[in-house]
Formats: sequence, structure tokens, C-alpha cells
Amino acid sequence: MTACKGMPTIDIDKLEESCKKRNSSGRRARRKYSILKRDDFRCTNCNSKTELTIAHIKPLNKSNGRNMSDFKLNECKVLCRRCHINEEHSTKEA
Ligand SMILES: [Zn+2]
Repeated sequence: MTACKGMPTIDIDKLEESCKKRNSSGRRARRKYSILKRDDFRCTNCNSKTELTIAHIKPLNKSNGRNMSDFKLNECKVLCRRCHINEEHSTKEA
């Protein structure tokens, strides 16, 4: 149960399966999938193909009121878990 530490990595097989759903989770899955596809299923920082996550380019904060599940193609990028964590730490204020 160590994999679940607030940074869920993407299981591409499962995601492909979710893309077939005809509901909001399917729609969200398709959006995530298109981000992954655009970035060639690699971390945009270190080119790793394992433990991928979707990161928001613009940091989410209270002022823009965005929801974590709101994945917009041009506002997201693929990062592996390690780079994602590094980036979160470097962008976090105080
Ligand atoms: Zn990386």
C-alpha cells in the first residue's frame, strides 16, 4: 500500500479501459490519455516511461478555484512521479 501517497501514477492499461466508459470518468480518462499521447507517454522532464503522472503546468491555488480533476490539455504535462514531486516541492510557497 505504499504506492498511494497522494500522487497516483497512471496505469496506461487501466486508463485505456476507462476511456471506453461513456460517463464522466470516461471523459476524464480520455482527456488524460490525450495528454499522455501528446507527450509520447514519457516524462517531459527526464523521458522516463515509468510511474507517470499528469501535472498541471499552472499551479492550482485558491484564486483560480480549479478542481484537480479538471485536466485541460494545454495546461497539463506528463511527469514521472519523481519529477512531479520535485516540481511540487520547488514551486510550493513557504
Ligand atoms: Zn521524470
